[in-house]
Amino acid sequence: MSAAASDPFFQPSYVVSRERLLATGQGLASRLGLTVDSRALAERGPAGETLALDFMIFGARRPRHALVISSGTHGVEGYTGSAVQHYLASRILPRLELGPDTAIILQHANNPYGFAFSRRVNEGNVDYNRNFLERFDPQKVSADYELLYDILNPPDLDPARETSRWEEAQRFIDRTSLRHFQQVAVEGQYKYPQGMQFGGHAPQAGTRHLLALVAEHLSQASTVIWLDFHTGLGDFGACELITGAAAGSESHRFSQEVWSGAVKSASSGESVSTPLNGLLDRGVEAALPAQCRLAFAYPEFGTYPMERVVRAIRADNWLHAHGVPGDATGKAVSAELLEALRPDNPRWRRMIIDKGAQLVDQALAHLPGVSRQGAPGPSSA
Ligand SMILES: [Zn+2]
Repeated sequence: MSAAASDPFFQPSYVVSRERLLATGQGLASRLGLTVDSRALAERGPAGETLALDFMIFGARRPRHALVISSGTHGVEGYTGSAVQHYLASRILPRLELGPDTAIILQHANNPYGFAFSRRVNEGNVDYNRNFLERFDPQKVSADYELLYDILNPPDLDPARETSRWEEAQRFIDRTSLRHFQQVAVEGQYKYPQGMQFGGHAPQAGTRHLLALVAEHLSQASTVIWLDFHTGLGDFGACELITGAAAGSESHRFSQEVWSGAVKSASSGESVSTPLNGLLDRGVEAALPAQCRLAFAYPEFGTYPMERVVRAIRADNWLHAHGVPGDATGKAVSAELLEALRPDNPRWRRMIIDKGAQLVDQALAHLPGVSRQGAPGPSSA
C-alpha cells in the first residue's frame, strides 16, 4: 500500500472522524445489519459538538461471538485507532459475511473529550485507562511519585528550572533505573487530581457508559475478541500487543492463541509497558458474562523516544493546570502532544494501517461465524 493510500484513513478531527464512521456504517447497514447505541457526555466539543461513545454493532443484535475494535481511550491517540476503524469499515467490512450469532463492533472513542480536545486525559484530567476500578483510594500514590512530584508536575516551564529538574530525574534514574522511572511516572496515581496519570476518585462518565454498553450488548456473548488501539510507547511504528491480564491466565492464553503468541502481559515485566492500575480490559472482563472467553490486546504503536513523549504529556498536564490553553505557548504544547502521539509522517501511518489490518485479520480468523465474500474462511460457522 502506498503512503498516499493509507492517509485517507487518518481524519482531521474527532467530529469529522465520528461523522464519517457513522456515515460509512450506515452504508453497510442494509447488508450486514447495524445497531448504533450512542451515549453522550454532558460536555461538548470545541465547536459545541456532541461528545459520545458510539457502539456500532454490525451483524447480530445480541451476539454470541463479537469482535470489538475500540479507539481513543487516551483521547488524542484516537486519531490512530480510528484510522484503523475507518480502514476496517471501508475495506474489510464490505467483503465480510456474518453468521446470525456474530457481530463486529466499532467503538469509535472511549474518551471522546480527549480526542476532541487533543488531550490524552478526559474532561476530569483523568487517565481513562487507570479508571477501571471498583474501589478508589484517594491516598493511593507511590512514595517515589511523591518524591518526583515537582519533576513530573512542574509549576512552570522555565528553561533553567527545567534543566535542573531533568538533571534530578536523571540522578533518580541512575540510582534506580529508567524502567523504574517509567513505572513511577505512568502506573497511575489517585491522590493528585492535577497531577500526571491521575486515575480519578470515581468511575468517570465514559467509564460507566462503556461498561454499560458491554453489559447490555454483550450479555449473551461466549466469545469476545477486543483490540483497543494506543500510541506513544516503543520504537517508531513498531507495534507491541499488551494485555492487563495476568500471564498464564485464561484470558492471556486465549489472546496468545488469537495473535500467535505476541501478547505480553503488562504485569509480568515482559512488555514495554510497566504494571498499571485500573486498566480498561480488567473492567471489560468483569462486565462480560462469567463464562465468556475474552481475548484482549492493546496494540501499542511506538512514536518517538520515551523522553520526548513523557515531556509532551507532562507539558500538556502543566498547560491545563497552570498555563493558558490557546495562547502561543499553549498552542505549541498542544501541537507537540499531537505530534508525539500521532506523528505527521506517511511512513508511520502506513505502518499503522498495515499492522492494524493484520491484527484485525487474525482476530477475524478466530471469530466463529465470519466468512469472506465468495471465499468462506476456515472458521466460518
Ligand atoms: Zn494509550
